[in-house]
Amino acid sequence: MTVDVRLDELLVAHAAGRLAEPVALAVATHLALSPPGRARFAFYEALGGVLLDGIEPEPVAPGAWARLLEQLSDVEPGGVGQAAIPGDHRLPPPLWPYAPEGLAGLRWKRYGPVSEADLKIRDGGFRAKLVRLKAGRRVPRHTHAGQELTVVLEGAFTDKIGHYGRGDIAIADSSLDHQPTATADGDCLCLAVTDARLLLTGPVGRFLNPFLRF
Ligand code: ZN
Repeated sequence: MTVDVRLDELLVAHAAGRLAEPVALAVATHLALSPPGRARFAFYEALGGVLLDGIEPEPVAPGAWARLLEQLSDVEPGGVGQAAIPGDHRLPPPLWPYAPEGLAGLRWKRYGPVSEADLKIRDGGFRAKLVRLKAGRRVPRHTHAGQELTVVLEGAFTDKIGHYGRGDIAIADSSLDHQPTATADGDCLCLAVTDARLLLTGPVGRFLNPFLRF
């Protein structure tokens, strides 16, 4: 699992109910599929409760946070109560309201090795879609005008930051120019939440920018 410190900010905001709906959906989907994610979230919920109760928290011992993260990263993801739409084991419960008939009930559009289905939620300038990338293929190299959250539902992908498997969440913004590539063992299905269109940065991609929906 690749851990991003910005995930902590998202979890704190999620615990406080402050996230736009598509972003909250990405976090909830991550939590549904990731036991280490749930453990981190429980920590922040407990911390929020302490703060709300007005109790002066004890000073945290040096290194405690690092040790907690170390313990969490030892937990294997998957396997905990993953109910699913019958016949659609890939979608965890937070996604059901947006895809009541499963993957086959969504309207898919294909762009080369990439297929996309809009989940038709708009909130706070964010939108959400499902993206399927064929095994071993890559999406065009791009950077981001805003934020991009990607949660892996099935398969895995890599980019220059790390390797992301089922339940992992990748956080990208304008500081990252990357080219996610699906691993060779199977198609990679992800939930992608963005607040602005992607900007292609490869030699050919630059010319395609005006035609892209984000
Ligand atoms: Zn990206």
